[in-house]
Amino acid sequence: MTKILAEFSYKRQEVRKGYTDKYLHINLSIYSIEEKPIPEKVKDVFIGGKGYDLWLMWEYLPRDRIVKWDEPENPLCISSGPLGGVMGYPGAGKSIVTAISPLTDIIIDSNVGGFFGPWMKFAGFDALRIVGKAKEPVVIVIDGLKEKVWIELAEELPTETHLLADMLNEKYMNVDKETGKNDRLYVSVVSSGPAADHTYFGCLNFSWWDNRRKVNHVKQAGRGGTGTVFRNKNLVALVAHSPPIKLESVGPDDRDTLRKVGREHSSEILKLDSQQNRMRVIGTAHLPSIMSEFDLLPTYNFKYGRDDNGKDKTLWGDHYEKIFTNTGKGWDGCWRGCAINCAHCVEGYELKTGPFKGQKVLVDGPEYETIAGCGSNIGIFDPLQVVEINFYCDTYGIDTISFGTATAFIMECYMAGILNKERTDGLELKWGNFEAVTELLHRMARGEGQFPLIFAKGIKKMQEYFRANYNLTKEQERFIQDIGMAHKGLEYSEYVTKESLAQQGGYGLTLKGPQHDEAWLIFLDMVHNYMPTFENKADALTWFPYWRTWFSLNGLCKLPWNDVVPADNKETDEPHKVPKHIQFYADFFESVTGRHMGDSPKEREANLILMSERVYQFQRVFNVRLGHGRREDDSNPPYRSVGPVTLEEYNSRLDRYDKQLAEELGKTLEEIRKMPVGERHALTRKIREERYRKLQDTVYEKRGWNHKSGVIKISKAKEIWPEWLVKEVLPFIKDLQD
Ligand code: SF4
Repeated sequence: MTKILAEFSYKRQEVRKGYTDKYLHINLSIYSIEEKPIPEKVKDVFIGGKGYDLWLMWEYLPRDRIVKWDEPENPLCISSGPLGGVMGYPGAGKSIVTAISPLTDIIIDSNVGGFFGPWMKFAGFDALRIVGKAKEPVVIVIDGLKEKVWIELAEELPTETHLLADMLNEKYMNVDKETGKNDRLYVSVVSSGPAADHTYFGCLNFSWWDNRRKVNHVKQAGRGGTGTVFRNKNLVALVAHSPPIKLESVGPDDRDTLRKVGREHSSEILKLDSQQNRMRVIGTAHLPSIMSEFDLLPTYNFKYGRDDNGKDKTLWGDHYEKIFTNTGKGWDGCWRGCAINCAHCVEGYELKTGPFKGQKVLVDGPEYETIAGCGSNIGIFDPLQVVEINFYCDTYGIDTISFGTATAFIMECYMAGILNKERTDGLELKWGNFEAVTELLHRMARGEGQFPLIFAKGIKKMQEYFRANYNLTKEQERFIQDIGMAHKGLEYSEYVTKESLAQQGGYGLTLKGPQHDEAWLIFLDMVHNYMPTFENKADALTWFPYWRTWFSLNGLCKLPWNDVVPADNKETDEPHKVPKHIQFYADFFESVTGRHMGDSPKEREANLILMSERVYQFQRVFNVRLGHGRREDDSNPPYRSVGPVTLEEYNSRLDRYDKQLAEELGKTLEEIRKMPVGERHALTRKIREERYRKLQDTVYEKRGWNHKSGVIKISKAKEIWPEWLVKEVLPFIKDLQD
C-alpha cells in the first residue's frame, strides 16, 4: 500500500474560455494542498502560462530578502495557458515551467511539450505552484477523475525517467474491467533523474503516451536547472490525470472560428511542409546542414561554424532520416493533432554503455540542439553516439544543451593544457572522445568523483574553481573567460554568433541567459538576410522577444508560427514576421478567450505584442528584484560569441576578417594586410566589442530601459501596466533611475 501523506478533495471546475481560473498551491514542507482563485486583474495582465507562473512566484516570495534556488521558498511553477489543450491546433499542448535557477540566481522559464499542462488544466487547474521541501521522496498526483490531489511517499521507485514514466503511467491509468480498455493517454508524468541531484543543470521530462507505438515519450524543460530544483524539493514525480477531452473541452467563446482557423493552419502545414523544412520527416534535424552551409554550426566549442574537413556531414538530416523510425506518418506530435509532428524518435536502440548497456530502448530525439551540442561542438560526428548521449541525458535528468556546451568548454581546456588527466579524475577529454563523455555522464548520475561534480555545476562555477585552484597565468585566466560559453551563468545554446550581431544581442540581451527561444534571430539574420542594417537588428531585439513571449503565455509551441510559412510569405511587407500567421493567432486567441484584439491587422498585432511586452518587462523587473537584471548582467558576453578568440580562429577565416576590417577602417585589403596579423586580430576585437555595447544602448532605448542601470524607466512602466502593477514594482525600480 502506498503511504498517502496528504490528500485534498475538490470539485472539478469545467474549463471556460480557456481557463479554470484556479490554481493549486502545494507546500511540501508541511504537506498542505490548497486550491486558490486567480483574480481577474491578474488574468487580464498575465494571460496564463509563463505569465501566471511569474505572478505566482512574485506574490509568494518574501519581499525583505532574496531567496536562493535551494531554499524551500523557491517556488516551482507550471502552467499551460488559455490556448493550451486545444486539440487539432498545431502546437497547442505546451507547459511552461519557472523557478529561480541554480545556474543564474534569476528566473528561468522553459517551454515544454508533453501533455502535463493541458491534462492538469482539464483536471481543474490553470497552474501549479510547489513550495517547500519534502522530508522524504514524494510523488504528487492530480487526478481530475477522482477530483483529488494527493502527496504520496515514493517508495522503491526508480529515478531514471524511462523507467519511472512507464511505471507511473501504468499505475495511474484506469482500466475498464469489462472491455480491458485503458485511458493511459490521459496520464502524464513529470520527472527528472538521478544526475539532477548532483548538477545545476538538471532538466525535467514531461511524458505523453503514444498509442500507436504503445510507449511513453518525453520532452524536456531543459534549461536552467528546473530539474535540480525539483529534486531538491525531494520530488520524484508529478502525475496529472485528465478526463477524456474533445475540442469543446476548452470551452471556446466561438467554436466555429476556432475550428476554421485550426483547420486552415493545419492544412497549410500538411501541404507545404514537404516543400520547406520537412519537419514531419526529420524535425529540427533539418538544421545542421543549413547551419553548416552558413558557417554557424558550433564545432569544437563554437570555434568554427562547421568542420572544415566536412566531418559534420554525418550529423545532417539525411543521416537522421535513416535512424528515426516511422517518421512522416503523423505519429510524432508532442501534442495531439499537431500537424507538424516533428518530435521524432529512434526505436529499438541498443545502448552501448552505462547501467542499461545491451538493453534496447526508445530514444526521443535527438533534436537540433542535441545534435550540435553533444555532436559537432564536442567533436563527435557519429549520429548514433549522439543518440546514446541523448538517451542518458534524458533519463538521468540532464539538460543536453548545458551538458554539450560545458563539455565543449572542458575539452578545449584539456586540449590547451589547462586540464589534464590528473585534474579530470583520469578522463581523457580530447575532442570526440565518446568513451570519456559517456563516462562523465555516468559518474555525474552516480555523484561519483571530484571532477564530474565540479563540471556538473556549469561553466561559471568551473571558471571560478579553475581560477582558485589551478594557479593559472593571466593569459590562461583570460582564455577560460573568453572561451567559456556561458552568460548570466547559463550555457549558450547551439549557434555560432560571431557573424550575427542580431543573435549576439539575441543571446546577450535576454532575460534568462543565452537560450535561443527568446530571440532566435540567427536564421533570419544570416540565412534570409532579413535585417541587414544595425537599426533593423536593434528593432528585431524588441519585436521578436515580445512576440516569442506570447507563445509561452498561451501554452503554445513556436514552431508552427515560422517553421512552415505560407507559400506567398516572401511577397509580404514583413516576411520575417509571417504576417498571415499572426492573424491566425489573433483569431485563435479571440475564438477561445472571447477577448477582442482589434479590427485591423496592425491593431491586432499591436495588441498581441503589448500583451507579451507587459510580461516580458515584468520578468526583467523580477530579475532586478532578485539582485540582477542590470546593465552589467547584459554586458561582456564571452568573446567567443562575438569574435575570434585565438589567432588560429582568425587565420581560419582570414579573408572574411581582413575584408571586414578593411571596410570598417576605410582601407584597402592590401593596406590591412601590411599590419601584423596579431594587430588585425586585436583591432577586430576592439571594433566588435564596441559594436555590441552600441547595440546594447540602442536596444535599451527601444525597450524603455535606463541606459546606466538597465532597469525599466518609470514612464515606460506607467505606459504598459495598470496602476496596481506599477505600485507593485515601484519599490524595486525607483532607486535605479537616472
Ligand atoms: S511543432 Fe513539433 S515540438 Fe511543436 S508541438 Fe508540434 S510536434 Fe511538438
